[in-house]
Amino acid sequence: MKDVYTLNHPVIQHNLAVIRDKNYDCESFRTAMRRVSYALFLEATKLLPTVKKMIETPLKKMVQNVLDPDIEIILAPILRAGVAFCDVAQEILPEARVQHLGMYRDEETLKPVWYYNKTFKISQNPNNTHVLILDPMLATGNSARDAIKIYVDKGVPIENIVFVCLLAAPEGVRNLRATFGPVKIITVSIDDCLNEAGYIVPGLGDAGDKIFNTI
Ligand code: URA
Repeated sequence: MKDVYTLNHPVIQHNLAVIRDKNYDCESFRTAMRRVSYALFLEATKLLPTVKKMIETPLKKMVQNVLDPDIEIILAPILRAGVAFCDVAQEILPEARVQHLGMYRDEETLKPVWYYNKTFKISQNPNNTHVLILDPMLATGNSARDAIKIYVDKGVPIENIVFVCLLAAPEGVRNLRATFGPVKIITVSIDDCLNEAGYIVPGLGDAGDKIFNTI
């Protein structure tokens, strides 16, 4: 798998048009987000380790691959926009722990300011821990970098960490690569650039405002 994977699928791109649209309609937006989230999380979990399990269908016994029960999966949504991915991510990975990361962006410095960190618990060997960091927008990459660093500092191998977003800016991708080397990023699009206010262009506007209808 490439370190940055773009979901170039016609149905997903079709829904991205709804998500980006400046003529915002909250119901259509949320439906499109949900559809895209399923595709993102199936892709982001493609490399989770599996084991073979003997099962029995109504017709015969067989060996089926299932998720390795010895791994710990952590979903780490970056507040507030990352919460939008949680429902679908938990549906796909019901056993995962959810560790919220509270950061807001200082509008002058564009640096993240922490206000909440729920990452205290990694109950298993960090090598068996797989982390999905959730944030619809990879913009400057500063909050993504802080979030990834928390888990790297706890001993989770960088190969076990996936950053899941809707849109990425090239600046954010470069920031993460410069800090960690190759980092797995699953996105729907890598857009053109950031503007001076740190917004992704063409982007979708303020993701949190669209998700929570606070426009
Ligand atoms: N956060 C957003 O909500 N939108 C952007 O374009 C960048 C960061």
